[in-house]
Amino acid sequence: MEGFTETNTQENTYTGYLCACFDSAQIREICLYNVPMQKSVAIIGGGPAGLMAAEVISARGVQVDVYDSMSSVGRKFLMAGKSGLNITHSDPFEAFVSKYGKRRNEIEPLLKKFGADQLRAWVHRLGIETFTGTSGRVFPKGMKASPLLRAWLRRLTDSGATFHLRHQWTGFLPDGSLRFVTPNGDAHIKADATVLALGGGSWRRLGSDGAWVDWLKQAGAEIEPLSPSNCGFDVAWSPHFREKFEGHPIKSVVLSFGEFRQQGEFIVTKEGVEGGLIYSASAFIRDEIYASGTATVLLDLQPDRTLDWLTEKLSRPRGSRSLASYLEKTLGIKGVKAGLLREFVSKEDFADAKRLAGFIKALPVPFVAPRPLDEAISTVGGVTFDSLDENLMLKNLPGVFCAGEMLDWEAPTGGYLLTACFSSGYAAGNGALKYLSAK
Ligand SMILES: Cc1cc2nc3c(=O)[nH]c(=O)nc-3n(C[C@H](O)[C@H](O)[C@H](O)COP(=O)(O)OP(=O)(O)OC[C@H]3O[C@@H](n4cnc5c(N)ncnc54)[C@H](O)[C@@H]3O)c2cc1C
Repeated sequence: MEGFTETNTQENTYTGYLCACFDSAQIREICLYNVPMQKSVAIIGGGPAGLMAAEVISARGVQVDVYDSMSSVGRKFLMAGKSGLNITHSDPFEAFVSKYGKRRNEIEPLLKKFGADQLRAWVHRLGIETFTGTSGRVFPKGMKASPLLRAWLRRLTDSGATFHLRHQWTGFLPDGSLRFVTPNGDAHIKADATVLALGGGSWRRLGSDGAWVDWLKQAGAEIEPLSPSNCGFDVAWSPHFREKFEGHPIKSVVLSFGEFRQQGEFIVTKEGVEGGLIYSASAFIRDEIYASGTATVLLDLQPDRTLDWLTEKLSRPRGSRSLASYLEKTLGIKGVKAGLLREFVSKEDFADAKRLAGFIKALPVPFVAPRPLDEAISTVGGVTFDSLDENLMLKNLPGVFCAGEMLDWEAPTGGYLLTACFSSGYAAGNGALKYLSAK
């Protein structure tokens, strides 16, 4: 293997795992430091971030113990695979890194070492092929997460990683030991280094409940409150609209909000709205609601028609036809789109061709609140980057590293979430190796 010398039996073994998991640049990084082999690392949280940290450390030949509160690991990862595991995106690097918005500067160095290309190559090394969809999103062939997770866990177990399930971490003891609640009572564990990869605060039934916030705060970490990201919103639908259109998709509209402008689709829910287009705009809308109590988005219900075209069509005499039938036959506005106009346009404006055309092009829809944190696809808030060093180690807690969604960043759906989780897990794993080498 390029740039790496095999010296003894133990090294021969971990060299094999290193080659199976990583490319030569990554192997050079992982092997940069001389780590005493009797050390052990505790990884708490068996999602993609924690498992990637485990992969790095275990492949280096250091003992890894993975703890998770659930009876199996990777539950949210498996859930992500239910509707097609969008593992990363084929965006060029600049476009990719811009998706991390306010945290671009913090995520960029992580992606430079383990970004979309490296992630795809790593997936291929697990024996799983990937493909790029028409939208540029990257999926494993077969779309599911389970074959990937199965192959990964097999490799991790073979490399010597030990899994401790139903172990809920509940903070640190005064001597720095890790405290767990287990089916057999409390357990206190001392590790030479710890990687926390506890996830965000949504979909708690899959394990990430955000309970770690208080325990880490007590230990001196700086934490931003957890808030929903990639979330739906409440809209005060009339009972009539809700009853008639709950579950209906609103297809191919343009949603504008401040500088955000994107074409897509979403779904009417009992409480409001959810779906891809809404998630993409959700960070902007959420921040506005937090700042001023409400946020009004503009919907263009006919993106392919100009205002003048619509005005001209609506101004024509329509004979005995009702306006509803005219809208349907002439403009194709029917069903839920017609319902939206009825919901938010007054009778007077509806009767005025020019004003109605204006509303079709820019219908104001007030969003009143983000849906609760537990329903969100992901979470923003968590451990601040200011409280971490460049190796993702907590400055106040030497030897404790953090990775994944529990860090304070957010990104839209499209594979950007998982990529940053893998990427930060890779960085935290390397950080732990570096820390151990200096101990
Ligand atoms: C429905 C859905 C679909 C998604 N689809 C995609 C997608 O297609 N593409 C994409 O990029 N992202 C997607 N995501 C987001 C992605 O799944 C998450 O961002 C990612 O799983 C986070 O990884 P993580 O390792 O940081 O945390 P998690 O995957 O949440 O793992 C955290 C682990 O920590 C454990 N844990 C938590 N607290 C404790 C404790 N106190 N003690 C012990 N263990 C603990 C949990 O049990 C869990 O196993 C989706 C999310 C959802 C909900």
